[in-house]
Amino acid sequence: MSTISFSTAQLKKEAERLFCHLKSLSWSYDDCLTYAPLTLEINTLKRQRHAVLLAHSYQTPDIVYGVADFTGDSYGLSVEAKKTDASVIVFCGVRFMAETAKILNPKKRVLLPAPDAGCSLADSITAADVRILKKKHPGVPVVCYVNTAAEVKAESDVCVTSANALKIIEALQGKKIIFIPDKLMAANLAMLTHKEIISWNGTCVVHERFDVAQLRAQRHEHPGLKILAHSECNSDIMKEADLMGGTTDILRTVKNSRDRDFMIVTECGLVDRLRSEFPEKRFLGTCNLCPFMKKNTLRNIRQVLLKPRKDQVVEIPETVRKKAERALERMFELNK
Ligand code: SF4
Repeated sequence: MSTISFSTAQLKKEAERLFCHLKSLSWSYDDCLTYAPLTLEINTLKRQRHAVLLAHSYQTPDIVYGVADFTGDSYGLSVEAKKTDASVIVFCGVRFMAETAKILNPKKRVLLPAPDAGCSLADSITAADVRILKKKHPGVPVVCYVNTAAEVKAESDVCVTSANALKIIEALQGKKIIFIPDKLMAANLAMLTHKEIISWNGTCVVHERFDVAQLRAQRHEHPGLKILAHSECNSDIMKEADLMGGTTDILRTVKNSRDRDFMIVTECGLVDRLRSEFPEKRFLGTCNLCPFMKKNTLRNIRQVLLKPRKDQVVEIPETVRKKAERALERMFELNK
């Protein structure tokens, strides 16, 4: 039950706003009218609490188009988190992303509606594992994918995202690097660099499930199809795809391309975003859902704004935060 009342005119206006974005995803006007009280309430609560809501592109469309102030990839959202002047950051993504916001902007209150939103990559490695790797390979720089806990970033030399990993690896001194934790992304990077890559055994449960046979079947059925794949997929997929990159690379490619038919090999949230923003294009084939990303809902966003529980407030010990911040700042420097 809403804590704020809205007039019929306000509800209809909100339903029309939602319908503009969601009709290409088969939402009816009546569906939008059902959601309108909740999105209006959340947007009012955000203003009252001076909060900004950052949403990863894998969030559901009601979050992306109903209540998000910024939607993007890990890198874009960390830039927004760093520069926001809001007092509160509500992070609709997974835990490591909310931690990154807190690392970069420690004075802000960072709220995570779904505190149990983990990530199979981030959960595959601990700070103790990184210390063992460093002991085994002394002097080799540790490059850590942003999908890691704050403690793991604190043990690393530099962070990277899928969009800037290659550029940053190439900018580092020496012929060898330790790349953690994604073994599939490490193998994909190894095809593009001359550096020797020592990898870890982590995988993304969403991207490792794609099979190259699915891509070939779609290409056979739709000649001229462009296949855009996330760099967390395996190397066979990369060899078949027309583009390997992060979510922002995929969005940019669709936007700038004259092609009409695409297969997007990543999480379904991005495919929904593309269907909403490019209704004249066709998105074929299957996508996979991330069970962690989908733990955020309009209901827990409303609850976290009304009265956050202790486990929804992101806290990081200052010693860990400072060391993790160094690895992130080095990424920003090298990515200029
Ligand atoms: S999609 Fe994969 S990498 Fe992204 S949060 Fe989900 S499990 Fe982690």
